[in-house]
Amino acid sequence: MLRMTLMGGQARVMLCETTQLCQTASDLHNATPVCTAAMGRLMTGTLMMGVMMKGQGESVTVTIKGGGPMGTLVSVAEGGDVRVCCDNPQLDLPLAPNGKLDVGGAVGHEGRMSVVKDLGLREPYIGQCELVSGEIAVDFANYFTRSEQQPSLVALGVLTHGERVLKAGGLLIQPMPGCEESTIEQLELRSPMFADISRELAAAPKEELAEDWFRGMQPELLDRTPLRYHCPCSRERMEKALISLGRKELQSIIDEDTGAELGCHFCMKKYHFTTQELIALRDQAMRA
Ligand SMILES: [Zn+2]
Repeated sequence: MLRMTLMGGQARVMLCETTQLCQTASDLHNATPVCTAAMGRLMTGTLMMGVMMKGQGESVTVTIKGGGPMGTLVSVAEGGDVRVCCDNPQLDLPLAPNGKLDVGGAVGHEGRMSVVKDLGLREPYIGQCELVSGEIAVDFANYFTRSEQQPSLVALGVLTHGERVLKAGGLLIQPMPGCEESTIEQLELRSPMFADISRELAAAPKEELAEDWFRGMQPELLDRTPLRYHCPCSRERMEKALISLGRKELQSIIDEDTGAELGCHFCMKKYHFTTQELIALRDQAMRA
């Protein structure tokens, strides 16, 4: 993820390539191209928020419930680490009339996008807005503008060929307070250049694209953040989840004497607990 400023800080820019993360998500979820595109766009947008939040241990969760056949989509980012899941990643849909993957049809557009920023010790920040299109980039732009009062230009794209992700990435441009009208005009004038971001990234590396797009606008690189698909789940976290079921619920699983298997929705890892282990967790739940 590159972070830049334009015109001496009048606008800030985030530009990233997420091809490998999208491929990982697609493989983990055994997803169809349309679902890979939807999850990839969501992950890329969520990463921009994650990288924007500077504090250690802070995370952002973006949930999209659009009422479409793909079900609910959830992505979590902690800095440059991201993970994603959805209810129905094997959903397949015919291409949209424009020949593109029908992401809006899969996600739906009658529902909400919600953003929860976990700020460590402070109260979490919760923002919500109505979905506009289900195409996700427009929905992120709408969210920034309405919920955070921050006008934004957002482009998110995932280019696939069958099960392969050829290129994926995103761009976010936000004018800062005091941004001159002429700067905004310049950006609007240039916006068709960044509309199809995954195809642009297929043609040239992001550094070159940034140079091209922002020529004459004093682009200045602030920092680079490495990005990766990473799930922090662990046996310990799963134990906590089991304990939080409570003594009664645990006892009924123990009575069945088949043990328990918990799967992580984000990385598909499986955690198995024997009846003996469940008894120990039940005793902990009683002490709690
Ligand atoms: Zn996991």
